[in-house]
Amino acid sequence: MQTLRTLKALHREGLLPVDPRLAEAADAMAIAITPEMLALIDRADPADPIARQFVPSAAETEIAANELLDPIGDEARSPVKGIVHRYPDRVLLKPLHVCPVYCRFCFRREKVGPGGEALSASELDAAIAYIEARPEIWEVILTGGDPLMLAPRRLAKLIAALDAIDHVGVIRIHSRVPIVDPSRVTDELLAALKPRRTALWFAVHCNHARELSVAARAALARLADAGIPLIGQTVLLAGVNDEVETLETLMRALVTARVKPYYLHHPDLVRGTGHFRVSVERGQALMRALRGRLSGLAQPTYVLDVPGGHGKVPIGPGYLGDDPDALPGALPGALLVEDAFGGRHRYPR
Ligand SMILES: *Cc1c(COP(=O)(O)O)cnc(C)c1O
Ligand code: SF4
Repeated sequence: MQTLRTLKALHREGLLPVDPRLAEAADAMAIAITPEMLALIDRADPADPIARQFVPSAAETEIAANELLDPIGDEARSPVKGIVHRYPDRVLLKPLHVCPVYCRFCFRREKVGPGGEALSASELDAAIAYIEARPEIWEVILTGGDPLMLAPRRLAKLIAALDAIDHVGVIRIHSRVPIVDPSRVTDELLAALKPRRTALWFAVHCNHARELSVAARAALARLADAGIPLIGQTVLLAGVNDEVETLETLMRALVTARVKPYYLHHPDLVRGTGHFRVSVERGQALMRALRGRLSGLAQPTYVLDVPGGHGKVPIGPGYLGDDPDALPGALPGALLVEDAFGGRHRYPR
């Protein structure tokens, strides 16, 4: 079984309604659904959360006025090709724009795809030279595309080059491969993920507990057993995971797979993704509900990437207020603290 890459293949699998706008959606962004993900789709469920992430929808042709071509301002912060340098101590390095699957909500929707600009050998050298010349860069985040789409030999070479830069303390890899194409997590890949000196962290992108198939959990276990610390990133997506039970199940499943939930990303203002958007108020209400239900180990930080290249910030909810006078009794100048169960309390400043 191969990765499905065309509307025709999706029709054959019974995954698509007939809609002329789908051709436009498929033109705007490549299609890829791995056999692993295809096997998880419940065709009897028109709202299947796996299909919703990967099967193109006519809704993608609806572009809202506030949606952006470069939703998180990568371009504005790219000093050399393949590098995004927004925070002093860390950079993104994007060696390629290919992914094992194409997620319809992708924040780099306008960039990813087969044939999308990969760095040539000399461009990669220039990107590494940029890092080498800046001692303030402590962490290099390999992203893309999906860096695990590089052949293990090339990935090993890249990691060795970063490992040789004394001021680089951490290499972080952002990938969806262990979940969507777990057979790529081979011994050869694990060997490539072993810098001699730097710490290597692995951030895995997972949006629904059902993505954690037996094979995916085995791939994560291989990474964890190789001594690689795993963190999880989830995109908050309408119709995929915007219910508290769904998020709770996902966060527990991640922790059980030895993945520490790191970020819950508020969906970015990506063109043609209005059908995935969730309001900030809804996101905060979900986070508040999780706080009352879940172990601290399973709590992600809810973040927004501020459009224009201004970086990520936690967006709550906040538990401190300014109006303790609403409570009986008196404690002058006190703060109001809300607990995880909705109770309100005074606390001295
Ligand atoms: C997301 C991002 C990072 C990493 O941010 P953390 O908060 O450290 O996870 C770094 N640089 C850029 C440009 C980013 O978009
Ligand atoms: S794997 Fe990541 S970069 Fe690739 S399409 Fe999905 S969200 Fe975008």
